[in-house]
Amino acid sequence: MSQQVDIELRNVIKEFTGRGSDSHTRAVDNISLTIDRGEFFSLLGPSGCGKTTTLRMIAGFEEPNSGEILLRGKPVQNVPPFHRPVNTVFQDYALFPHMSAIQNVMFGLEMEGVARQEALKRAGEALEMVRILPAQFNRPPRQFSGGQQQRIALARALVKRPAVLLLDEPLGALDLKLRKEMQYELINMQKELAITFIYVTHDQEEALTMSDRIAVMNLGKVLQVGSPEEIYETPTTRFVADFIGETNFLTGRIEDFDGKCATVRLDASTAIRASHLEEGLANGQDVIVAIRPEKINIFAAQGVVKMDDGRTENAVEYKQKLLADPDIVMVEGVVDYANYIGTDTRYTIRFGEGQKMVMREQNFGLRSDTYYEVGSVVNIFWDYETARLLTH
Ligand code: ADP
Ligand code: MG
Repeated sequence: MSQQVDIELRNVIKEFTGRGSDSHTRAVDNISLTIDRGEFFSLLGPSGCGKTTTLRMIAGFEEPNSGEILLRGKPVQNVPPFHRPVNTVFQDYALFPHMSAIQNVMFGLEMEGVARQEALKRAGEALEMVRILPAQFNRPPRQFSGGQQQRIALARALVKRPAVLLLDEPLGALDLKLRKEMQYELINMQKELAITFIYVTHDQEEALTMSDRIAVMNLGKVLQVGSPEEIYETPTTRFVADFIGETNFLTGRIEDFDGKCATVRLDASTAIRASHLEEGLANGQDVIVAIRPEKINIFAAQGVVKMDDGRTENAVEYKQKLLADPDIVMVEGVVDYANYIGTDTRYTIRFGEGQKMVMREQNFGLRSDTYYEVGSVVNIFWDYETARLLTH
């Protein structure tokens, strides 16, 4: 894919002034982003973090207080929405209730002066693309389900062949099953049409599933931009690690560090190694170690350990073998909680002096092979590279 930039935001700030008073909300706080042509790019963050405001500025419904927005290299300040090569799909569909499905889709084309026959043809094609049948074209929106109404709204946005499609929580009103189906359809459609999508969601799983890249936002700022894998595997802040998936956070002090590995003392009896991306670390510095539950492995401290291939090994010998690998970090602990959740069992392990860690063990094979009783003594281990050191 050629890496041409479709959209660029440079130091964009947007403030809203409160009613009567002199209170200001800085909805968007100095955002800079570049979005490539053909990318599926998501803005992900909690409610109120400035996602919709960012989208509305790209669409032209709001102007920034300062900073610049460029579409295909051209600044769009004061260019009205209908003259921008973008179109928006809203969560609430915003279909005209008194027009039929096809009239809704044709409306924008006719406004642009496209001849009626041509508009009908293109609207019909757009509706068929979102799997609305010709026999349904003349029905009003209320005779369609929520999912179908969202498809019509999508057809209405796509029929104008925008360079960029902006989607503001477009699946938010749909139930889970339909939402999953629509997610895959949207991804397929986006790749097929090669249109740049900017997709707003507060749902981390949705963002991970659909996006080429994600910008994680909080309090009007972009905290991190990266591929789903980068965002999930190498979060650079506690907020991002916490917002995306489940994470254990252990607090401690740096005892020693080199190029990419730091030793962090958690308490008098426990020090663990973690990987870091940070510059300028110092011994004695307070830090956080973030570890995902699924990165942690477990085995009983005594007795035998059953291997994946069915063989068994003595637990003490197995431990020694593992510890010969310099990348492995291991602690001994006690099972505090065991929650069976179908695909996995979720354990809380107590270790050191009051440390706790959640880990997940997949329930393959016989349950008796992979179940650890509450109160039993276990070893948990992980690769130090999967434990990330964070400073904020
Ligand atoms: P999100 O879409 O991420 O939920 P928004 O962009 O809608 O967030 O809102 C960001 C912040 O700006 C919120 O605090 C919201 O209350 C405020 N805000 C948004 N639009 C307006 C407006 N028109 N007037 C005043 N405040 C607004
Ligand atoms: Mg919003």
